Amino acid sequence: MSSITKLVRPNIAALSPYSTARDEYGGPIGIFMDANESPYQNGYNRYPHPDQQAQIKARLGAIKGVPAANIFLGNGSDEAIDLIFRIFCVPGKDNAVIMTPSYGMYGVAAAINDIAVRPVQLGSDFSLDTCALLKACDEDTKVIFLCSPNNPSGNAFPQEQLLDICNRFGGIVVVDEAYVDFSGKGSLAHEAVRRDNLIVLQTLSKARAMAGLRVGMAISSEEIIRLMSMVKYPYNLSRAAMEKALEFLGQDIDTKVDTIIKERARLTAELPRYSFVKKVFPSDANFLLVKVDDANALYSYLLEKGIIVRNRSRVTGCEGCIRVTVGLPEENDALILALNNYERV
Ligand SMILES: *Cc1c(COP(=O)(O)O)cnc(C)c1O
Repeated sequence: MSSITKLVRPNIAALSPYSTARDEYGGPIGIFMDANESPYQNGYNRYPHPDQQAQIKARLGAIKGVPAANIFLGNGSDEAIDLIFRIFCVPGKDNAVIMTPSYGMYGVAAAINDIAVRPVQLGSDFSLDTCALLKACDEDTKVIFLCSPNNPSGNAFPQEQLLDICNRFGGIVVVDEAYVDFSGKGSLAHEAVRRDNLIVLQTLSKARAMAGLRVGMAISSEEIIRLMSMVKYPYNLSRAAMEKALEFLGQDIDTKVDTIIKERARLTAELPRYSFVKKVFPSDANFLLVKVDDANALYSYLLEKGIIVRNRSRVTGCEGCIRVTVGLPEENDALILALNNYERV
């Protein structure tokens, strides 16, 4: 029994997954009388074919430099987050340690699954204290959730620190890399393939511009990927989403990502010039966390101008802060123009 098998919920370890007749018959054509679908062809009358996920995994594997067998595809990475709780955490008993402030879905998915959350506050510069993190763990802590680059603070953590946490913690470590394409600090995807307790989450929703398709991924050991594939809904991604995703994965994103990184640098340099801006936190992502003297007032002002930013001022550790996504160059110009006028109000 591998050390990971011991972490799996007993009911999941004993699960025999739903299997479809279509999994057993791999051919693309035939007379399909197995799944109660409509026989009238319109492109979508059939359930998704297993080959579609296989094609996307092969493509993503080539892009990320990891084997397809180490990739799980989810209905957004949000699905992967939920599955991790369902596979490893016994409701009402186990707990998860989550750094805070961070992505809200970890806590929401934990609450839905009746898993207690132990928050560990990041430093005032959003640095991560490994000792505090490990001290928050007990024998019922099955998962630690880390996010790098972190949402909403924008900073990525040193890879050595994240790997040190993997080495020292006996449970599952999740590193959410939704914004990794904007970061110069690199990905832990290769490490996730060769270790037994690391799950890296990535998504097509951010740099790859497919938020509307809902496709996310987990990269991990083959054993963990097998567990996730067993627990997911059989047809978790739609035919339409997978067709589009495969098409868009053929497009190069480098120029767009470069532009966003340049625009991030421009806003990082411009924003501190305003008297009402107290701090622009350094960002490895496609957004900036900005501390201002009256976040609620600025948020309402921008809303009135038709510019929607995220008011994070009620989040512990983000007091006085708004989070601004880097837009197109002309959209960032519009933000700057609005801020010029705000200064004069
Ligand atoms: C946006 C975001 C995601 C993406 O979630 P999807 O369900 O894949 O769209 C995941 N993690 C973090 C931290 C995010 O900010």
